[in-house]
Amino acid sequence: MTAWRRDLHAHPEIAFHERRTSEFLARTLAGFGVAVSSGLAGTGVVGTLRRGTSRRSVALRADMDGLPLQETTGLPYGSQSPGAMHACGHDGHMAMLLGAARHLAEAGRFDGTVHFVFQPAEENEGGGRVMVEEGLFDRFPADAVFGLHNWPGLPAGRFGVRPGPVMAAFDVFDVAVRGRGGHGAMPHLAVDPVVAAAEMISAFQTIVSRNVSPVEAAVVSVTQVQGGETWNVIPEEVRLRGSTRYFLPEVGRVVEEGVRRVAAGVASAFGVRAEVDSRRRYPATVNAPAETAIAARVAAEVAGPEGVTADLPPSLASEDFAFMLQARPGCYACLGNGPAEEGRVLHCPRYDFNDEILPVGAAYWVHLTETVLG
Ligand SMILES: [Zn+2]
Ligand SMILES: [Zn+2]
Repeated sequence: MTAWRRDLHAHPEIAFHERRTSEFLARTLAGFGVAVSSGLAGTGVVGTLRRGTSRRSVALRADMDGLPLQETTGLPYGSQSPGAMHACGHDGHMAMLLGAARHLAEAGRFDGTVHFVFQPAEENEGGGRVMVEEGLFDRFPADAVFGLHNWPGLPAGRFGVRPGPVMAAFDVFDVAVRGRGGHGAMPHLAVDPVVAAAEMISAFQTIVSRNVSPVEAAVVSVTQVQGGETWNVIPEEVRLRGSTRYFLPEVGRVVEEGVRRVAAGVASAFGVRAEVDSRRRYPATVNAPAETAIAARVAAEVAGPEGVTADLPPSLASEDFAFMLQARPGCYACLGNGPAEEGRVLHCPRYDFNDEILPVGAAYWVHLTETVLG
C-alpha cells in the first residue's frame, strides 16, 4: 500500500483529469481479479466483487484528485507534476481502498456484493454529484455507502465519527456593484461603487449574527474584491465574491436571502445598482444513524474502544460525498493522520499523508464489508 500511495503521490492529477490515476486503479484492481468498470464521471473507476448468493450490497468510496498547488515537502516521492499535489491525502485514500480490495478478493468472508468506488474531482468540481447523476447506484446498486477521510489533528489511527451532519453545505455568490465612474477628486459627480461595496462587505457579517439562530452554525465569507485601476479614478464597477456554509436547508435559505436583501438595500441607500448571482454547490454531508452506529462499532474493532471518537465535532468544510449520502444511507468517517504540525494540515504545500495509517484504514474497510455483508 505504501508503494501504491507513493506512486500516486508522485503523479497527482487535478479534478476530472485523473487519467493516469484511473488507468492505475483499473489495472491494479483487475490484477486482484476484481471486475472493473471505468468511465463513470469521465475518469471514475468502480471495482465489483461478488461472493455467495445474498442480494445485499455495499459501496465503499475513495476520492482520486489532487489540488492545483505547488508541493514544497522535498520528499523523494514528491509530486512530479509542477503545480499539482496530493495535498488532501486522496493518494492515501485510494491506497487503503486498493489494499482492502486485494484482501477481500483473496480472503474476504462475506456474502453479497461490494463496490469499490473511486471518484474523481472531489475538490471544487463535485465529481460525486456527477457519478450519482450518471447512474452510479443504478449501475452498481448499493444498500449503503461509506466514505473515509484522513484528518490531521486527530491522533494517527484514531477514528472519528458522528451521526447527523458532519460537513456543511457550500454555496457561492457573486455581486456586481455598478455605479458611475469619475474623478477621484470630484466624487459628487460620480456614483462610487467602492464605498457601497465596502458597506456591503461589513453588512454581510450581520446576516449570520442577526438573522440566523445563535444555536445554528453558518458562515458568510467575502473572499474576493475586484475594482478600480489607479489612484485617482472612481471605477464604474466593483465585483465581490464569496461563499456561504451552513448545515440546515432553512438556514441556507435565510443566508442566501440575506445576501440578496443586504446587497439590494445597501445599493439603494448608496444610489448604485447591485446584481447578485448565487449558486448552490454542495449540500450538507449527513450521516445516517444506523450506518454510523455500524461504522463506530467496526472502528472500535479495528482501533479498540479507546481509539474511536464517537461524537467528532462537525466541520463547516464541505464534501461532495454529500451527494452519495443523499442517494443512499451511509457514513462518512474520519481517520486521524497525526499531529497537524509543521504544515501537516489538509491543502497545505507541506502536507503529506501518514503511511502508518494505511493498514488501519484498509482494516476498517475489510471489517466494515464483512460486518455489513456478514
Ligand atoms: Zn481537500
Ligand atoms: Zn479531501
